[in-house]
Amino acid sequence: MEKRKGYLLKGKVLDGTLNKPVEQGAVVVDGEHIAWVGMADAIPAQYNPAEYELIDLPGRTIMPGLVDGHTHISFGESRSEEENALYTPPEFRTAKALYYSKKVLQAGVTSAFDAATTYGVAQAVRDAIDTGMFPGPRFTVSGKQITNHQGLEDSFPSNMEFPLGQSAVLVKTKSDLVEAIRLQVKDEVDAIKVSGSNDNLITPDALGASAFTLEELKIIVDETHRLGKLCSVHARSCDSARDSALAGFDNLFHASYIDDAGIEACLKNNCVITPTLTLLVNLIEANPANAGASTASAFEREVEAASVNLRKAFEAGVPLIAGSESGWSPVPYGQWHAREMEVFVKYLGLSPLQAIHANTLGATRLLSPRYRDQVGKLEAGRYADILVLPGDPTQDITLLQRPSRFDYIFKGGQPIDRTPPAPRRRKWYERTKTFLAGLYVFDEEKGCGHLIPE
Ligand SMILES: [Zn+2]
Repeated sequence: MEKRKGYLLKGKVLDGTLNKPVEQGAVVVDGEHIAWVGMADAIPAQYNPAEYELIDLPGRTIMPGLVDGHTHISFGESRSEEENALYTPPEFRTAKALYYSKKVLQAGVTSAFDAATTYGVAQAVRDAIDTGMFPGPRFTVSGKQITNHQGLEDSFPSNMEFPLGQSAVLVKTKSDLVEAIRLQVKDEVDAIKVSGSNDNLITPDALGASAFTLEELKIIVDETHRLGKLCSVHARSCDSARDSALAGFDNLFHASYIDDAGIEACLKNNCVITPTLTLLVNLIEANPANAGASTASAFEREVEAASVNLRKAFEAGVPLIAGSESGWSPVPYGQWHAREMEVFVKYLGLSPLQAIHANTLGATRLLSPRYRDQVGKLEAGRYADILVLPGDPTQDITLLQRPSRFDYIFKGGQPIDRTPPAPRRRKWYERTKTFLAGLYVFDEEKGCGHLIPE
């Protein structure tokens, strides 16, 4: 049989914009790209079933693949900062990241923004996928975060060297800022990420100040933009969110404590916010008593603050982007990429359609120019990165969290292999080395030792 040119998909079409789904719609896939989108009864004659495989999808929604606005493909589901920064050789991390990339794609994520990497793992993974060697999403990657002594990542004791495996470069002077950006751009990052504040996850009650001065933030933005890259910032504190927006950053991560001046600066400087609340919500749900360096109440406080401040920012017109923060053990790969949409609806008052937009076309603002206008929307000329799922996610946003029930996941016009990768075993060097989970004390009465568990 002659090889078909592509596919004719007929069903409910949700295109990634804020337009209502088209009930009797159709999408034509020709090779790698979308050739045509419209009403099912108006398909041009050239796209005939003899040449294009007709797939009738009653009761199904056809929509763009998800664009996850915040992943860490190199973090390997680490359970602690030590595990991520100190253990596991970079070569094995890269192999793991390629294994996990398949899971991310199989969850319906066809593009992603990687928000900081250990070593150069994320760039290597992006290139291994883009050159066709391994399955995975189209990655846009920031390299290592640029931090200083007050930013996230410089959290190991001062009596040791800053670890090479930390997903950051430590910058000490103003001129180092420019050098750090130029080196990362030389090493082929797509975006620069700055660690603009600390983080309760790592250091309790560390939400106070901005790590960098406004002047330093402006130096970073100017050099990053001069080199044609996007500029993102980890901004958990109010000051870091406001000052980064004032300095002209393109994207604030988190920003739960943003104030009115910060919101105004976002609007003026065309800055978006990617909250990644899924990490906090998962931490609270999973094990509130043992969630990390800080108490669960700090995470609850932040979600509460976000539901006031980010709702206000969104209503004022600041676009929100959905990102999952996948890569840490509370947010394993392939599991939670669609949850942020539910969180946006539940905590920030977005409609399901607005939430889907934030996880598709809206999120393309973070992507490299190679992909920015090529994905995220069902439109002629863009890559055919497409999901087909039962039901209507604008009626039930949680449908997107069940990728095993999706009928199809297309990337570049091809239905992807849905066979889950075999489970992997951990190698001993991946974990924080604990000799014994407790103290083995001597009991004088009994004349023997016994374990006091921790
Ligand atoms: Zn992150």
